[in-house]
Amino acid sequence: MEDDPADLLVQALAEPVATPVERDWSFRRNDHEGGFNRYGWNDYDQQLLEACWDDEATELAEGLISNYGAMWPWPMPRAVAARHPRLSQAVLDLAIRRLIGQRHTYADHPDAVSELALMYGSFDRLRRDHDWPDPVTLECRVCAARFSEAVISPWMIRQYGPPRYCASCCVRARNGLGYEDDGALLRAIRILAAAIDGIPSQNIHQTISIAGLDPERRDRAMVGLIVGPHPALPLLQRAGIVGEAWRPARGTYCFAADGHPCRSLAERVVDDWLASRSIAHTLEPTYPGSNKRADWLLADGTFIEYAGMMGDADYRARMEEKRRLAGAAGVRLVILLPEDLVDLSRVLGPLVSA
Ligand SMILES: [Zn+2]
Repeated sequence: MEDDPADLLVQALAEPVATPVERDWSFRRNDHEGGFNRYGWNDYDQQLLEACWDDEATELAEGLISNYGAMWPWPMPRAVAARHPRLSQAVLDLAIRRLIGQRHTYADHPDAVSELALMYGSFDRLRRDHDWPDPVTLECRVCAARFSEAVISPWMIRQYGPPRYCASCCVRARNGLGYEDDGALLRAIRILAAAIDGIPSQNIHQTISIAGLDPERRDRAMVGLIVGPHPALPLLQRAGIVGEAWRPARGTYCFAADGHPCRSLAERVVDDWLASRSIAHTLEPTYPGSNKRADWLLADGTFIEYAGMMGDADYRARMEEKRRLAGAAGVRLVILLPEDLVDLSRVLGPLVSA
């Protein structure tokens, strides 16, 4: 280790943190409710959902189970939207026609109803013939507190990967402490830059997903995020991460192993995955009949997008438009989510070995 961050943490962990209210976010196989408000989701809803279900949907859920254990239904709606558009559209149609989920508080919001359907419907479907472990107790790799992985909420999993850090430390990483001590800040930003092997962006605390890094790098990135320098350009320059003349051209944030410019850590994880398997790829292909661009183009004509903000309605609408463009042109489009970074082989492997 070039710089042991333990002493930085001692100081950071002594600061008070607004601990999130603890609740159980897990879906236990034997718990009928799954611990949540089902908004009256019932057998009739379930039958209609299962009429649209297929093996592909089961496989999707199995992949999530292997990475997220008892939390798997949370990423399911986004995974279906990205990976299984037929099912996504079929469920949305049922919601628009108000045939399912009509005891939901927002029964007239098809988005909300179809999200509910894909969470509870998938949960009820899978637990009939699948099993997964109940949440276990872990030791936080930052502060050493013991915690149940069930209290790690969906946004924490999206940003920091499968449960490894307690909820308090996730909140610390999200907020950043912002030390007064200049030396501590400079050290922290160097640790963060080294862990992500890139240039921390201004809004890194809100946008980064470190889920695709190996555990030790994740641990160091967490320290950098918790100590919390807000990486304005002068700080990056003083830390020696960028030169005086550096400008974030086109949002370039770092370079992948093959020299491709990337706008985020997530993009670099994907690019490196492709390069390390000698899969030829070029950047920013244009959708036929449009000036919109995807992130990558593979040699067989497949487009790949990394969609980091599907929680944002405008962003999601732009992604749907791209899907429509691809569909109209007969282009195969793969949309990757933060949840996929931890296991790209599952999503991209079948595609590139075919
Ligand atoms: Zn902790």
